[in-house]
Amino acid sequence: MFNRIRNFAGSMIWRPMASYFFLIFVFYVALRLYADDDVNASRAVLISLPFAAALSWIILKKIMQPLKEISEASREMARGNLDREIRIYSNDEIGNLARNINFLAHRLKLTIDEITEEKDRIRAILNSMGDGVVAVDRDRRVLLVNPAVERALNISGESIRGKDIVGVIRHYEFENNIKAALQNQKELTREIQVLTPDPKVYRVLFTPLKGTDRGGVVAVLRDITERRQLDQVRAEFIANISHELRTPLTTIKGFLETLLDGALEDRKISLRFLRIIDTETDRMKRLIDDLFSLSNIESRKVIPAREEVRMSEVVEKVLAAFSQAAGERGIRLASRLDPDFPVIVADEDMITRVVVNLVDNAIKYSQDRGRVVIEGGRSEGGEVFLSVSDRGIGIPEESLPRIFERLYRVDKARSREYGGSGLGLAIVKHIVEVHGGRIEVDSRPGLGSRFTVYLPVKQLP
Ligand code: ADP
Repeated sequence: MFNRIRNFAGSMIWRPMASYFFLIFVFYVALRLYADDDVNASRAVLISLPFAAALSWIILKKIMQPLKEISEASREMARGNLDREIRIYSNDEIGNLARNINFLAHRLKLTIDEITEEKDRIRAILNSMGDGVVAVDRDRRVLLVNPAVERALNISGESIRGKDIVGVIRHYEFENNIKAALQNQKELTREIQVLTPDPKVYRVLFTPLKGTDRGGVVAVLRDITERRQLDQVRAEFIANISHELRTPLTTIKGFLETLLDGALEDRKISLRFLRIIDTETDRMKRLIDDLFSLSNIESRKVIPAREEVRMSEVVEKVLAAFSQAAGERGIRLASRLDPDFPVIVADEDMITRVVVNLVDNAIKYSQDRGRVVIEGGRSEGGEVFLSVSDRGIGIPEESLPRIFERLYRVDKARSREYGGSGLGLAIVKHIVEVHGGRIEVDSRPGLGSRFTVYLPVKQLP
């Protein structure tokens, strides 16, 4: 019993109760006094007035004002201002109510901050993703689009959010697949082509959204344009190589059949045919050797040696090797290397190959009685340069960007006539690049060409 009273007193509930009790008590006393005719009505009012006023004042201060503040503060919190704190006037029920509301607001703020942070993190991840992401609900309304999709499909994410995806994406295939994935609730992978803003190919994975009441589908777009282009280049290359090999093979087979059919009896004809077969076999061998070298350099199977190379010696060696072929056509070969041309650190065999291919081309594409000059020295940028110039047929401007491609030839017949494989410049470019250098070409049809190789100057450690 005693405990109960103590709890009651401790709970502070008694304060407003006591106020009401006291008010009723005063009212009762005034009524009794008045009823017993001890006092008249105005005296009874006068007696009870100070008590009533004092009580009203207490109720106003202790109950009404804090309640008003709590009501105002909670309204503001409901509007979103969770930083507002209610002042605590007393330690009673009302004070406790205010304290609890403050705590509630604080917890709510923490939870909202956590959710916002999580949302921001997810948005940042989606924004920085290279893959495009689009999500729609079961009614095909757009829930989310990341910038990669905006760029890929040329749309503005803000303007289409909440709208039916059909009609806003403006890609028939994409929309159809979204519909199919929604209908069948099955994962789909499709390749789609987009023409604007840039022609691209995407592999798109349409996955039904799980774990949400609103259902829907999420589509992830991966740009595979480069891979497709590479596949195409590879397929074209294989087709071209097959063609390059088929031509000499057909010739060889044709002559062999003629020989077997009886031409073998005629020694003169047989010799002529065998010479042609020999030339064609050489051509095939050269093509296969060049292909092999190119593939080795490209796949970095061959690591360039690091040795000191004296360019003047390389140039001298190459010019000596070509002197007979050039002489037969009256082409003069000359070299003008700077006397202080630095010793470079490179793979000597590879660098020799570069000079051989460039000089070979310069002779091949020169008119008879032309002139081929090799120059070299230090460039303005501090690198070393080596240029091979001729006064030959030159290269049309539209072909210049393509001459370093594998098997590209401006004049196929001329290239074949001189036994070109169409791989020489591709090999040169790759060798120069694995040495950290670059190659430039300057050419005018009818006036001649100049190929310049720039290499960084390196020291042996
Ligand atoms: P090819 O074996 O056909 O010479 P390259 O890869 O060495 O193959 O050269 C590619 C093409 O670039 C040649 O077919 C030719 O059309 C052009 N070309 C290369 N060098 C020269 C040059 N010095 N003058 C004119 N055309 C050239």
